[in-house]
Amino acid sequence: MKKFLFIDLDDTLFQTMGKCLSNEDLQPAAYLKDGSACSFMTKQQRSFFELMDGEMTLIPTTARNRDALSRVNLPFKSYAIINYGGVILEPNGVVDNIWLEIMREDMNRAQYGLIGLIKLIDEYSELRGFKGRARLIEDFSISFYIVVKDPNKVCENLEQLERDIVQPWILTDGKEYFIHRNGNNLAVLPKTLNKARAVTYLQKRLECEFGDIMTFGMGDSKSDARFMAECDYAIIPKGTQLLSHIVTTV
Ligand SMILES: [Mg+2]
Repeated sequence: MKKFLFIDLDDTLFQTMGKCLSNEDLQPAAYLKDGSACSFMTKQQRSFFELMDGEMTLIPTTARNRDALSRVNLPFKSYAIINYGGVILEPNGVVDNIWLEIMREDMNRAQYGLIGLIKLIDEYSELRGFKGRARLIEDFSISFYIVVKDPNKVCENLEQLERDIVQPWILTDGKEYFIHRNGNNLAVLPKTLNKARAVTYLQKRLECEFGDIMTFGMGDSKSDARFMAECDYAIIPKGTQLLSHIVTTV
């Protein structure tokens, strides 16, 4: 039976230097546009990658866009789910057009709400002297979601923005959207954009191609849990948001 691992990348397979528990034996895994290394793998993470890569097909399942994925230096050879599930790349790097057109239609419907929220966030930031601005993340000429980061990396600023502006909006005009916040990253996404939906779609494609398959899902964030639940088995790295959430709620 063919086995597949749908795997989130950032903070699952590698992380920035600041998040590495020790500086020992780190190797660069992802690069910025200027070519400098920004994310690193520990010895254990490299060993885990080798173990999994030897046993099954790894499918990146990531918020990265195509450009950011191309700056990840790992030998993925199959499909890739990128843009939070908004785009699926085939093993030869070509876009799955059927999925892209489904998403284009759904994202067009969601765009008006996102633009309204950007305006609210920017007005609030201006008023409070908060330096972070909301950005609409686009790829393949499709607007997918909003992201806000604090340039000073003060997580409390994002917490406050979420509480004062984003959450009240979600409860009123934004019922068709959801929040993903992990560290210095506040994202607001249409509910129609999610990794789980793309994983389900791709699993069906893989079943058509290979017959019975076995799937594993792996991620670090609470927002990864849904796509992991679409798989036969779930793997969660130690020290992650998702694992501490589970431990505190059981
Ligand atoms: Mg992650």
